[in-house]
Amino acid sequence: MKSVFLFLATFTVGAVAALAYRTARHDPTPVSGLPAPVSQPTSPVSGLPTSVSKTPVNTVCAICGMDVDPKLPTAEYQGKTIGFGCRMCPPKFKAEPDKFGPLYLRNEVVKR
Ligand SMILES: [Zn+2]
Repeated sequence: MKSVFLFLATFTVGAVAALAYRTARHDPTPVSGLPAPVSQPTSPVSGLPTSVSKTPVNTVCAICGMDVDPKLPTAEYQGKTIGFGCRMCPPKFKAEPDKFGPLYLRNEVVKR
């Protein structure tokens, strides 16, 4: 039991000593190799991250034919943002993106 305590004490002292040494040197390199935090690019106008305000390329929902609802979450297909007209369609698109994706990009409604 005593040896375990000695091990822990040595470990703790070593860690504190290393931290103190690093602090004393004002070492700018991050601990454990983590990359330095990168400030997220923000839009100069609104200050919001630019990735949030994406406008869909389509205006009609390819699956249900309704107008795109800007309040609904969008999806990405081949690097383009597409919008949906109802909450039923995003799961259908995600199930078969290669069937519906091209229709969304062309702003067409699927034939029934
Ligand atoms: Zn829809």
